[in-house]
Amino acid sequence: MRVKQGADCRGLKEPITSKFFIIEECYRHAVSPAEFTFVITCGTDSHEDRPTSLHNAGLAIDIRIWFLSPGQVTQLVTDLQYYLGPDYDVVAESDHVHIEADLREV
Ligand SMILES: [Zn+2]
Repeated sequence: MRVKQGADCRGLKEPITSKFFIIEECYRHAVSPAEFTFVITCGTDSHEDRPTSLHNAGLAIDIRIWFLSPGQVTQLVTDLQYYLGPDYDVVAESDHVHIEADLREV
């Protein structure tokens, strides 16, 4: 696992950090091994303009996907949603996959 230069992962909370291993395994499964690098492009940084973003609360990360095919992205999102379970939201954005721990009480 690598963190993009400039991305800030300080302040990420346990519901996210405890899932790094699962996220990395899903990534490894979706991406062929030769290309494998799991890169976090955004942690608690870069969302000052969106106060309600869970990035600010340390409960969301973005991961790099630009070298994945659309099929690999679909596979990755499907796997992440399955293995992280209903307490996590996984969203494919144009240039990254956003993962957040949705801890709101029902
Ligand atoms: Zn995000």
